[in-house]
Amino acid sequence: MTLSLPILGEALDELTNAFPPRRTPVPQPGDVGQIMGFFTDTTLCIGCKACEVACKQWNQLPADQYNFTGYSYDNTGHLGATTWRHVKFKEQIGENAGRWLMMSDVCKHCESAPCQHSCPTGAIIYNDFGDVYVQNDICNGCGYCVSACPFGVLGRAEGQQDDGHAHKCTLCFDRQSDDMTPACAKACPTASIQFGPVDELRDRARGRVKELQDRGNQRAYLYGADSVGDYGPLNAFFLLEDHPNEYNLPENPPQPFKGQAKRYAASLLTGVALTALAAAVFGKRS
Ligand code: SF4
Ligand code: SF4
Ligand code: SF4
Repeated sequence: MTLSLPILGEALDELTNAFPPRRTPVPQPGDVGQIMGFFTDTTLCIGCKACEVACKQWNQLPADQYNFTGYSYDNTGHLGATTWRHVKFKEQIGENAGRWLMMSDVCKHCESAPCQHSCPTGAIIYNDFGDVYVQNDICNGCGYCVSACPFGVLGRAEGQQDDGHAHKCTLCFDRQSDDMTPACAKACPTASIQFGPVDELRDRARGRVKELQDRGNQRAYLYGADSVGDYGPLNAFFLLEDHPNEYNLPENPPQPFKGQAKRYAASLLTGVALTALAAAVFGKRS
């Protein structure tokens, strides 16, 4: 049997590029044709947690204990398999006054999602609404997506819902399919969470930043409406008024597949060099 060059090329590509770039989703019959997402305006958040509760209620997710973490008005601490919305509280003490930053965090439904790239079974897809969706019946629980996500969104179910599979926000795919607003956005009493076609949301968000800046809040800016450093745009993006780290968001989210080919090549070369060295040393002794 002879191996043709294209087959060799494909095999080499598979070996050196474990995280191939996003494959553009093929439109399916019935697709809405618009990518739906979230604009979360943290300046409007009052920390009521209605979004977190509505998400758990609609998606039948169990409570994550009732213990306060001790470092914030919080008992969930972070996003995970059973917490798909998480309201963060950050108290800032200044020289003259203190203030609270509050932000309802969620899966960013990244336009080029490392979790989707890294899934070996094809369980993670872009659904009809352009949102990143985990198909639980195909997930084998390997956890690659958990480590690939630069925002710490995904978790594997343990305890009450112990199926060992990865879980995260579906952007209420079931509600969207019935022309309903996602539960968290529906429950938010201040419109801090806004849902809609991302192009419209981005325009609205830019208008809101301008409005805030005209009113004297020069700190207002958008995180993820456009690319964040090397990382592509997020379809769930945020209006912030401090450094991303203050909200526990990465300033430059890493794309794990970037530079992968170089790293594989370096490992291969090191292996070859060490083998040659060992052969030379043992060759001399014998
Ligand atoms: S935020 Fe994480 S889990 Fe959500 S789509 Fe992006 S990489 Fe995937
Ligand atoms: S869109 Fe639905 S699943 Fe996602 S955080 Fe909101 S309520 Fe939860
Ligand atoms: S429901 Fe709205 S105001 Fe309340 S915590 Fe969530 S985002 Fe903030």
